[in-house]
Amino acid sequence: MEENELTGELSEKLFKDIDLEGLVAEVIKKRKKDLQEFPPPEAWFLGPKAEHGDVWLTTIEHIFRDYVHWRRNYFPEDPIVVDREQMKTHEPWVETLKFEIDSILNQLKAHFPFHSPRYIAHMISEQTFPGVVGYFAGMLYNPNNVTEESAPITTSLEIEAGKMIAEMLGYNPNTAWAHICSGGTLANLEALWIARMVQFAPLIVKDYCETHAVRDFEISMPDGSNIPIVDVPSKALLGLRPNEAAGSVRAIAAHLAEAQGDAVYEDINAYFSTNRFNVSYAGLHSILAKLGVRPVVFVSEAAHYSIKKAVNILGYGEACIRSVPVEPHFRMNVDALREEVFRVADDEYIAAVIAVAGTTEEGAVDPIHRIRFLRDDLETERNRSFWLHVDAAWGGYVRSVFCGLGLEHEGDRRKRLNEICEEYRRAIEVREETEVPVLEFDGDHASEGKKKLHLEWADFEVYSAYLAMPDADSITVDPHKLGYLPYPAGVIAFQNKLVTELVVQKAQYITDEIGGIKSAAREEEITAVGPYIIEGSKPGAVAAACWLSHKTIPLNYNGHGRLIKTSLLNTKKLARYFDLHGRLFDTIEHELYGEIDPGIRRFTFELLCEPDTNLVCYLCLPMKVGRDGKMERDTSAKLADINELNEAIYKRATIRNRPGKRKTPYSQEYFVSRTILTAGQYHPGSISGLLERLDIPIYDYEREGIFLLRSVVMNPWHFLAEKRGKNYLYDFVVHLHRTARDILNP
Ligand SMILES: *Cc1c(COP(=O)(O)O)cnc(C)c1O
Repeated sequence: MEENELTGELSEKLFKDIDLEGLVAEVIKKRKKDLQEFPPPEAWFLGPKAEHGDVWLTTIEHIFRDYVHWRRNYFPEDPIVVDREQMKTHEPWVETLKFEIDSILNQLKAHFPFHSPRYIAHMISEQTFPGVVGYFAGMLYNPNNVTEESAPITTSLEIEAGKMIAEMLGYNPNTAWAHICSGGTLANLEALWIARMVQFAPLIVKDYCETHAVRDFEISMPDGSNIPIVDVPSKALLGLRPNEAAGSVRAIAAHLAEAQGDAVYEDINAYFSTNRFNVSYAGLHSILAKLGVRPVVFVSEAAHYSIKKAVNILGYGEACIRSVPVEPHFRMNVDALREEVFRVADDEYIAAVIAVAGTTEEGAVDPIHRIRFLRDDLETERNRSFWLHVDAAWGGYVRSVFCGLGLEHEGDRRKRLNEICEEYRRAIEVREETEVPVLEFDGDHASEGKKKLHLEWADFEVYSAYLAMPDADSITVDPHKLGYLPYPAGVIAFQNKLVTELVVQKAQYITDEIGGIKSAAREEEITAVGPYIIEGSKPGAVAAACWLSHKTIPLNYNGHGRLIKTSLLNTKKLARYFDLHGRLFDTIEHELYGEIDPGIRRFTFELLCEPDTNLVCYLCLPMKVGRDGKMERDTSAKLADINELNEAIYKRATIRNRPGKRKTPYSQEYFVSRTILTAGQYHPGSISGLLERLDIPIYDYEREGIFLLRSVVMNPWHFLAEKRGKNYLYDFVVHLHRTARDILNP
């Protein structure tokens, strides 16, 4: 794509007409000052050795005592019903309970040590202090956020936490709508559920106008023209801009209210609720049959499987998914998407395009900005738009490093995206110089040297994608992943809170909320969650956890962003160690065995790709000395052998519990996770570069798939431990080296 395509409405919208040089210098100065004043991430967690154990204990005790007071002070004149004598008779039962508790505690010792810097495996790590104590406090009161009546306090905490998260994602917290749900899976489902409702709303409006002979109500088409809705073909209404579609019911009401007064709202709401195009009422099948269209959903090959579940549940069927190929970084290939989107058949419509910010397997970030430009083009050239959803379940919190810099909403001069990225790059400074020891060999004599490493996150495609995030209509993000919060905490955020009006579910016993739109004059604050969501009863405790954590560790560059920044750099560091493994081979051998055995079978580690977020995939490859004396891939090892090797490494770097055969993690030095690239998911064309680099024939790939080792680097302690002389990431590579060596040299 040409560079000048990167300018445009996007940059106009996001960026400013001011002295950026000066601003950035000021930002950096302020940043350094703030950093000194704000407690560092090590304060926020229990600690690998439970260093903060005392303060956690006293805080939890304080919360519990306070709760006991609350009970005792409620109608003090009410009688005490369990006396001390009675309590003595409870003792045997309490003893049984204690025994069973001990038994659970015993078993939990076989749990994975998520908190440990040695756990470099799945998307889980420490939980924040405010997250845990907020949860505990909330849990004692056991609020149910399905309705304010059963959760007067935590419902508002949920709404406030939603605003904080929406703001981190780049949305305007006053016009967006975000709430907590059970996780990314439900968030994705809800995004597509709402999109489905919004998409058909203009058809209801058209029906209304036809039956009520309203010929002068105009709708704004994607290409900017205004046309009476009754003249727009029904299929074309499926391609309106999402915000236009979401606001169409409100707009017709406002249009008619001028002449007819507020009574028209009730009329329209009643009409809406039982219209043949109301998908909640009429069902998807009947609408699609009427229109003679099929939905298609575009998402990259690297999408999370929850997208399949969602389209399955919504009645689209998994066949609606158009898998867009990925490019070598495992980001969506937007040129391929462009071709497909422009080629959608007459009897198809785009139900959604989904970008992933942080793919679950590779941590890759799709170029959201390019998808946005593509949508602009589709609007002007084809008069069609689409709902853009971003699945940022994993990578959403990475956006906190961009927040709180005062760079967001100033002025409106068009600027080149690259320049803007450069300003951000300088302001957020996600870079570091470090070094790693390497032995230099001169005959038998080894001398210590150092190899300098320059670490920097990330290329401007990733920056641009994060800056364009608020252009999406909905975003999924998981506080229980990079938010370092207890389960179950997913969040779904919508750019436009008006979408709530289209989905109100009435249950008289939980809400007074009236269905449908209200008077257009009232810009409603959303004060309840239950009426607009898929779930019913839901924990208020997790809302307290999210709120307290984000309140005390703000979602900006100086708060949560620092934690993210450290883990991004740690990921880069680990990636560089793998890159350098060829050079480190002898150093590690020397370190482990005091000598270098020329007879051993060689190997090295190869990165799948440069990671976009904090997760890295790699594999171990057998090597041999080539004719020129240099190391080269040992092609006698076929893909099946390589897979076997990596699977064996994985098995030794995890614990597998089979029923009745538990192993504790105490002797397990490091933990890693794995994934498998299969031809069913990734078309060989998408990963041809990788196959070439690894010298793997396509038919081997198609038959075997590629077994990968996978490390999520989110532990907060790596950096600090290194300052104390323990470099876990380097040790981890040494550990994998030793494991691979043992397997290859039995
Ligand atoms: C984890 C993840 C999900 C699913 O989230 P859950 O919280 O496990 O339901 C969806 N999409 C992506 C990209 C994820 O990483």
